[in-house]
Amino acid sequence: MSIMRIGIIGAGIVGLYIGYVALLNGHNIDIFEKEGGLGSGASGNNAGVIHILQTPFTSLKSQLAIRGNKLHRIYSRNIGYRMRRVNAFLVSRSNIHKLVDRFLLRYIRKYGINATMIDSDDLKRSYPFLTKKIKSAIKVEGYYVVDPLEVLIKLSKSVEDLGGTIKFNHEVEYIEISDGKAFIDGLEYDYIVLAAGADTSRLAVKTGIKPPLQKYAKGVMIKTEFLADAIFAELKLTNRNKYSKGGGIIPTPYQDAMILGPGFRWVEDPYDNRIAEDEVNEVLSNFMRLLSIEVYPKKVFSGVRVINYPRDDYIFIFNKPTVAIFGIDSPGFTAAPAIAEEILKRISIK
Ligand SMILES: Cc1cc2nc3c(=O)[nH]c(=O)nc-3n(C[C@H](O)[C@H](O)[C@H](O)COP(=O)(O)OP(=O)(O)OC[C@H]3O[C@@H](n4cnc5c(N)ncnc54)[C@H](O)[C@@H]3O)c2cc1C
Repeated sequence: MSIMRIGIIGAGIVGLYIGYVALLNGHNIDIFEKEGGLGSGASGNNAGVIHILQTPFTSLKSQLAIRGNKLHRIYSRNIGYRMRRVNAFLVSRSNIHKLVDRFLLRYIRKYGINATMIDSDDLKRSYPFLTKKIKSAIKVEGYYVVDPLEVLIKLSKSVEDLGGTIKFNHEVEYIEISDGKAFIDGLEYDYIVLAAGADTSRLAVKTGIKPPLQKYAKGVMIKTEFLADAIFAELKLTNRNKYSKGGGIIPTPYQDAMILGPGFRWVEDPYDNRIAEDEVNEVLSNFMRLLSIEVYPKKVFSGVRVINYPRDDYIFIFNKPTVAIFGIDSPGFTAAPAIAEEILKRISIK
C-alpha cells in the first residue's frame, strides 16, 4: 500500500475518524475546519447514543452502525473517551404490540443482536417512573452512551498526537483538480475527502460530482433532572415518519441528566438551530407519555440532520481524487469509525 497525502474537509466525527484511521495506516493528513472549534455541526449536537439496532438492517447505515459500535469500543480505549453501556427498553402502550413484538424479536435476533421479551410489570417495578400504561417491552443489549463533545475533543487530540494537522478557522471555498491531484490553497493531495456535513453537496459540485437530493431535519432535545440507567423508546404501529428515528429517553455517560428526544421538524436551512416553544412542548408531551412523573427542562438544545432524500441511506461517491460523503444522518456518530475504515479501504484499493 502506498502512503497517501489526504486532505479532509470537516472536523466533525466523520472527518476526524477518517483522519485518525488514515494516520493509523501510515498516511499523512490535514483536516480543514471552517469554525474556530469542534462540535458546531451535528457531531456536537446529538443524543450521544452508540446504537446497535437500526432498521432496515439491510441498509448501509445499519451495517456501518453495527460495525461502528464495535470499533468505538476498540478505539475509545486508545483515544480515551468514556462509553457507558446501557440497556434499551423498547416499550409499547398497545396490547396489539404483544403479538407484534414476537415477530420483531425474531427479526432482531436474526442479526445477532441480544434481545429478550420483558414482563412489563417487572419493568415498571424496576423503573417506577414509567407509566402504568406500558403493556409490553423488549430489552435490547449492546447500546452505549457517550458525551459527543468529549469524543470530538479526545479524538482531535489523538489525531494531532499521531502527526495530523487540524486547521481551524479554515473554510474551504475552492478545490483545484489537476493531473489526478487535488489542491487546497496550494497544498497538494492524492485524495480529498468531503466530510463537511450539509456543505458536502456545495463542495462536491465544484469537483464535478453530482450530489444526491438532500433534506434537513431539526431535532430538539431536552435535558431533564431525573436519572435512570437505561434507554426507553416507544414502539408505535401508526403515524410512523420513516425519516424520524422516533427518539427516546436517554441517559448521559456521566449520569447528570436524561435526554428526551430528539424531535423532528423539516427545515429549509441546515444551520437553522433555533428552538421554538411549541417544539419543546411537542418533545415534552411525546416522551412524558412514557412517564408517570413530571419532568422539567434543565437545558434545551438542537441539531440538524442531513438526510439523503427520498432514499434515506448513506451515499459515498468516489471520483478520484475526490471522495464525497453524503447524508450522514443518525446513526452517523455510531457509524463514523466504520465509515472511516470503509473510505480508507476503498481509496487504498482504487
Ligand atoms: C438531533 C440529532 C440527534 C442525533 N443523535 C444521534 C445519536 O444519538 N447517535 C448517533 O449515532 N447519531 C446521532 N445523530 C447523527 C450524528 O450526529 C451525525 O450523523 C454526525 O454527527 C454527522 O457527522 P459529520 O461529521 O458528517 O457532520 P458534522 O458534524 O456536521 O461535521 C461537518 C463539519 O464540516 C465543517 N465544514 C462545513 N463546510 C466546511 C468547509 N467549506 N470548510 C471547512 N469545514 C467545513 C463544519 O463546520 C462541521 O464541523 C444525531 C443527529 C442529530 C441532528
